[in-house]
Amino acid sequence: LTVLGLESSCDDTAAAVVRVSDGQPPQILSSVVFGQNDLHADFGGVVPEIAARAHAEKLDYCVRDALQASGTALSDIDLIAVTAGPGLIGGVLSGVMCAKGIAAGADLPLIGVNHLAGHALTPRLTDQLTYPYLMLLVSGGHCQFLIVHSPTGFTRVGGTIDDAPGEAFDKTARLLGLSQPGGPSVEVRAKLGDPKRFRFPRPLLDRDDCDLSFSGLKTALLRTRDTIITEQGGLRQQDVNDLCAGFQAAVTDTLAAKTRRALRKYLQKAPQSPAIAVAGGVAANQAIRSALETAAAEHDTAFVAPPLALCTDNAAMIAYAGAEVFSAGERSDMTLAARPRWPLDQTSPSMLGSGK
Ligand code: ATP
Ligand code: FE
Repeated sequence: LTVLGLESSCDDTAAAVVRVSDGQPPQILSSVVFGQNDLHADFGGVVPEIAARAHAEKLDYCVRDALQASGTALSDIDLIAVTAGPGLIGGVLSGVMCAKGIAAGADLPLIGVNHLAGHALTPRLTDQLTYPYLMLLVSGGHCQFLIVHSPTGFTRVGGTIDDAPGEAFDKTARLLGLSQPGGPSVEVRAKLGDPKRFRFPRPLLDRDDCDLSFSGLKTALLRTRDTIITEQGGLRQQDVNDLCAGFQAAVTDTLAAKTRRALRKYLQKAPQSPAIAVAGGVAANQAIRSALETAAAEHDTAFVAPPLALCTDNAAMIAYAGAEVFSAGERSDMTLAARPRWPLDQTSPSMLGSGK
């Protein structure tokens, strides 16, 4: 099965060609991502209207480049997979419309993919992880522990009760005058800082569940920053580095502690060779990756973290998830609707309304 995947749910326009054959590891023939950081730089965050227009303008070129880079033509493609949600509705609509156009024009089957399922199935694309496995999905808009049973079967074990960590990284960068997306810029500064100078809260660790909270952390950072500014008349570079280090340490400790708890719960009904995987943009963070790896090792559990480019948004994960969902018998058609919200425990595209 050779799949053309499209992704446009946030601020990356992406297209990819992935080939899935029986008895062989899946192959990423191409994966093209057009970022939009420059378009949103002046606004301190993604502007949905600007994002939607940019997707509509660039999807065609992105698809062309992905086909060219893969060495395939549209006539070699067997399936069109597209992110149908959750995400910024204008962007998702652009992708769904583009995919419908290609599917109708080339007379190809179409499958709507849940963006989060794309992230959650990435460890199968990169490492052929077998079901079931525990997944920590940490991204710009989400943070949840899932047991992944099948391409459409997910059990949520816990998650954030307020902000997502990616959002917290982005807000921290904004508060400290660093560039967006915040994750990578905070990580660079954190490496130069002292994580012990400022102690930020690690909420909900006393609760025996897998829920997390990040909104208090953001407030604490803001308050500390303002105290430093009042006392010193401004922020020095070292203050920024130390604030980033303290912030990242708090996120890392919280995620690692709750991962240990999730592992204990999951291991109670453990499969023979238990595994935990991470995915989503925040999983690109080296400090977080290594803390989770340590937690997994303590529980004799295999740890899988996809390469960085497949942690952040891309269309290879959408093409691959599309192949899996399609092979499981799901189908979409021209009534496929774009969904701003689409919880992972309702991943079957047949759950998609007719859009009416
Ligand atoms: P969602 O997948 O929840 O819909 P999204 O698609 O916007 O949201 P992703 O592309 O998966 O999110 O991840 C983007 C987020 O990851 C941003 O918030 C970004 O700051 C964060 N991120 C990227 N790299 C790093 C890093 N090295 N450290 C921490 N966070 C990072
Ligand atoms: Fe994402």
